[in-house]
Amino acid sequence: MNHEKSRAFFARAQRILPGGVNSPVRAFRSVGGEPPFIARGEGAWLVDADGNRSIDYVMSWGPLLFGHAPPAIVRAITEAAANGTSFGAPTEREVLLAEAVAARVPSIEKIRFTSSGTEACMAAIRLARGATGRDDIVKFDGCYHGHADSLLVKAGSGVATLGLPDSPGVPSDLACHTFTLPFNDEFAVRKFFTERGGTIACAIVEPVVGNMGVILPRSGFLQALLDAAHAAGAIVILDEVMTGFRLAPGGAQEIFGLRADLTTFGKVIGGGLPVGAYGGRADLMKRIAPEGPVYQAGTLSGNPLAMAAGLASLELATPDAHAQLERTTSNLCDGILEAARAAEIPVRLNRAGSMWTLFFTTDDVVDAETARKADTRRFARFHAAMLARGVYLPPSQFEAAFVSTAHGDREVELTIAAAREALRDIR
Ligand SMILES: *Cc1c(COP(=O)(O)O)cnc(C)c1O
Repeated sequence: MNHEKSRAFFARAQRILPGGVNSPVRAFRSVGGEPPFIARGEGAWLVDADGNRSIDYVMSWGPLLFGHAPPAIVRAITEAAANGTSFGAPTEREVLLAEAVAARVPSIEKIRFTSSGTEACMAAIRLARGATGRDDIVKFDGCYHGHADSLLVKAGSGVATLGLPDSPGVPSDLACHTFTLPFNDEFAVRKFFTERGGTIACAIVEPVVGNMGVILPRSGFLQALLDAAHAAGAIVILDEVMTGFRLAPGGAQEIFGLRADLTTFGKVIGGGLPVGAYGGRADLMKRIAPEGPVYQAGTLSGNPLAMAAGLASLELATPDAHAQLERTTSNLCDGILEAARAAEIPVRLNRAGSMWTLFFTTDDVVDAETARKADTRRFARFHAAMLARGVYLPPSQFEAAFVSTAHGDREVELTIAAAREALRDIR
C-alpha cells in the first residue's frame, strides 16, 4: 500500500493542528504509525487519499449505523440544505425528531437538542445539580461522557474516592465534586449511596460501556444503581450517546427494561451530523430555560440539516435493521474468535449488538481494572496487521468497533480472513 499523500497531509497537518488532528484518538498515538487521510466513504468502506480501500469498523466512532453516505440520509440533508442551513428560530423538524425519540424511549417526556454529546452530558449534570441543589456527582471508572470539566476526572486510589483532575486546566475545586466508583460493582454502589447519597445530585453511567472497550453490565447492576440513587434522592443519567438507537430501536433502556430520570443522546441521533440531546422526566426538564431557571443554549442547536439527518436515521433504525446488525456482528465475532483460537492467542471478545472489542487478555473484562490488564502492545501490532490487510479498526485497545447495516457477508468474510493472517503474524 502506498501512503505518500496521507503522509504529506499529516506532516502539513501537524504544523497547524495540535497533533495533526481535531480529536486526539485520531492521531494513532496508542497504536503507533500514522493515520490515513480519508478521501471518501462508500457504505462499509473507506477510501484514503492514496486510493487504498479498507473496511471501516470505526464508523465515525458510532454515528454511522447505516454506513457511509446512505442515500436516504444524503437526500434528507441535501433537501434541507437547499432551504437554508440555519435560522436560529424554531423549525418543524425539531418537533418531529423530538417526538420520534420520545416514541421510541418511554422515559423521554421532554427533550432538548444540542450540538454534541459532550454538551448534552454537561447540561444534564447542570440540570441535576440545579434540581437537587446538590453539587456532588458520581461517575464510573472508565466511562466517558465527553470532555466537560466535571467529567474529566480520574479516581484517586481506592474505591469511591474524591476525584482528581484528569487534565491540566480542570480546577481541583471542581474535580473534588466528582466521585468515581467501579463499574459493575453493585456492592460499592449500595455502600456509597447509603453513606453519602444525601450529598449526590446525580450518577451518570454508560448502560453498556463503549469507552474502555465494550463492557456489558452485569445482570441487575443498572437497576441496583437506579434504586440506590433514588433512595438517596439522587437523579440517574443514562448516557446513551453511544448505545441510543444502536443497540435497539429504543436504545439500552429497551434492552434492559430501565427507566432513566434523564438520558443523553448523540451519535446515531444525528445520522453523521453534529447532534446531541438530553431529555427525560418532565418535572426535571421544565427547569431548563426558558421554562425554568437552569440555563443552557446553542446557536446551532436543533440545526435543520442535523435534524433532517437524525429523522432519516431513526426511520432506518427498524427492528429488521437491528436484527441484521445482530446477525452480521455475531458472524463476524464468531469468525474472529475462531481465528484467535487457531493462532492460540488468548483473547476476550466483548460484544453488545453491533459494538464489539477484542481484548488481548486471559481474564474476563468486566470493569476498568480488568480492561487495563489487556496487552496494548499486542493490540497495536494487531491493529497494524489488520490495516495492512485493508481492515480499519479503532486505533486503541480501549475503544469499541462498530458494524453498520452496510457491512455484508462479503465484508465479514474478508475481515475474518484478514484476522486469521494478522493473528498468526502477531503470535
Ligand atoms: C461519544 C460519547 C460522548 C461525547 O459525545 P461527543 O459528541 O463526542 O461530544 C459522550 N458519552 C458517550 C457514552 C460517548 O460515547
